[in-house]
Amino acid sequence: MFERIQTKTDDQIELIRKSSLLVGKTLAEVAGWLVPGVETGKLDAIAETFIRDHGAIPGFKGYNRFPATLCISVNEQVVHGIPGKRTIKEGDIVSIDCGVILNGYYGDSAYTFAVGNVPQRVSELLEVTRQSLLLGIGAAVAGNRLGDIGYAIQSFVEGHGFSVVRELVGHGIGKKLHEKPEVMNYGKRGNGARLQEGLVICIEPMVNLGARHVVQDSDGWTIRTADRMPSAHFEHAVAIRKGKAEVLSTFSDIEEVWNKKNAQ
Ligand code: MG
Ligand code: MG
Repeated sequence: MFERIQTKTDDQIELIRKSSLLVGKTLAEVAGWLVPGVETGKLDAIAETFIRDHGAIPGFKGYNRFPATLCISVNEQVVHGIPGKRTIKEGDIVSIDCGVILNGYYGDSAYTFAVGNVPQRVSELLEVTRQSLLLGIGAAVAGNRLGDIGYAIQSFVEGHGFSVVRELVGHGIGKKLHEKPEVMNYGKRGNGARLQEGLVICIEPMVNLGARHVVQDSDGWTIRTADRMPSAHFEHAVAIRKGKAEVLSTFSDIEEVWNKKNAQ
């Protein structure tokens, strides 16, 4: 059914911010437990408890029958990895995507962690992906078009010799986890729907070290790179404003925990 792109009121944007900030705090809690030897299922249980202790509901659990609170995608897994018995190892890159529902509104954000030492090119992959998200956010201003966001991300990523996943995209967010519009991480300047003030979207580049192609694993969820090379994923929820987007989620809590832990 046709679904119109809906902007949000300032009150609704505040609620999405609250949900998004709880996602950041949840990811920070998980980051504290992310060490070699930990099972991904344990990280998931920690996240679920944390979210419920804060009066919210895990946003992914049960969504299209997804079985867990977090999507944990390791190395060549791009997104939608199901937590379970897998054990994190030194040198893994671990993408953790989290959603919550608080006061009826979703929050959604993702971060990729390098556990211990990773090859130089892999740490560049993480840095370029994170930076491409910020450039996409820079293009996400009222009056621009969706293609301007995609172009900003794609041109930067490809300029560094990495590739952008096309099959999965960002999205509007609000009372539903995935609302219109689809927010592509590739595109042409001046193309696509115009960005209106009050639109709230999740921008979430998925960037591959090798070729852009992905496949779905037999579990029906996990998306991985076809060439089995590493992939990274960062996501923020942002509100479109005049001049500069308002970032509703935050990586500050995550990085405070993670940087302190890795400085020890
Ligand atoms: Mg997400
Ligand atoms: Mg998302």
